[in-house]
Amino acid sequence: MSSQRDDSGASADPADPADPAARTPPRHVDLHTHSTASDGLYAPAELARLAHEAGLDLIALVDHDTTAGVTEAQAAGQALGVRVMPGVEINTTLFGAGDAHILGYEVTPDDASLDRNLSLLRDLRERRGERMVEKLRVAGFEISWEQVRALADGTVGRPHIARALINGGYATDVSDAFARYLTPGKPGFSPRYKLSADDAVRIIRSARGIATLAHPAAIADLETSVLPRLVAAGLQGLECYYGPRNEATSYGYYDDTTVAWLVGLADRFELIATGGSDYHGPRMHPTPLGGRYVPPVAVTRLREAREAALARPAEEFILPTPEL
Ligand code: AMP
Ligand code: FE
Ligand code: FE
Ligand code: ZN
Repeated sequence: MSSQRDDSGASADPADPADPAARTPPRHVDLHTHSTASDGLYAPAELARLAHEAGLDLIALVDHDTTAGVTEAQAAGQALGVRVMPGVEINTTLFGAGDAHILGYEVTPDDASLDRNLSLLRDLRERRGERMVEKLRVAGFEISWEQVRALADGTVGRPHIARALINGGYATDVSDAFARYLTPGKPGFSPRYKLSADDAVRIIRSARGIATLAHPAAIADLETSVLPRLVAAGLQGLECYYGPRNEATSYGYYDDTTVAWLVGLADRFELIATGGSDYHGPRMHPTPLGGRYVPPVAVTRLREAREAALARPAEEFILPTPEL
């Protein structure tokens, strides 16, 4: 055990746990997980325990618009030999239409500008949730904002509205609730605040994190327009390994051909090829925790990029408060 540890010479990184074993390369990793700090079903400590059971030695916790779960997950993980990389996922609108989710890896969790930006985004989510519940009430659904809010420990999102609809007997599961009520054109849909994907990249870079485009397979014009534009804004990674190899996800198919195409794009645009399950707990997305193989070299490359980010001049970015 201790023979693998080497704490000589390596420079300290505030994102790293104090344990020098944190610098040995991990072997089984999942870089896309969610906890109850946002719309996951398991508390951060429970997620770390499940990761250990799944044979993982590193997970990235990328809750929506918050890093609040990171400390708890790291503390629980440390006792089990599971490292927890701090991260965040920011759902954005891609240049006017369509969703793009930006992952931020190795962000400084308590960075002041990050805190301010994410807290604004969480406020905007509260208002969007209220609008969605109001639309549902007008359409005759007997659910309340208080019920929805009580289902969320932290960042609120459509999955919490879905759970309130399930509890009210209006849907059988989260996917059913999304399909029938919570997507564009359906009675409970109201758009999220239109944060541009480039601004999400700037938010991540301001916290010296590594901005990565999540589950990109189904994004239109990825190669010709989206990646060139996001790379110009500072994107550094592409989530290439995602979803089951033989089953569709809400964000497209990730069969071997698609993954090879994405890895080729990552190479061409000099992006780090990352991946993960998008685990939120059972019955939300199809991949089990650790269920998609991710080459662990991704972690090494993210750490190198983090060190470079810590060494470069600050790129402070504060989102302007929107006029609503
Ligand atoms: P929001 O950011 O509030 O618009 O909610 C989007 C979140 O809902 C995503 O991050 C997913 O975790 C989840 N989600 C999106 N589509 C589905 C679906 N079809 N079934 C289950 N969860 C979904
Ligand atoms: Fe989610
Ligand atoms: Fe996502
Ligand atoms: Zn996610």
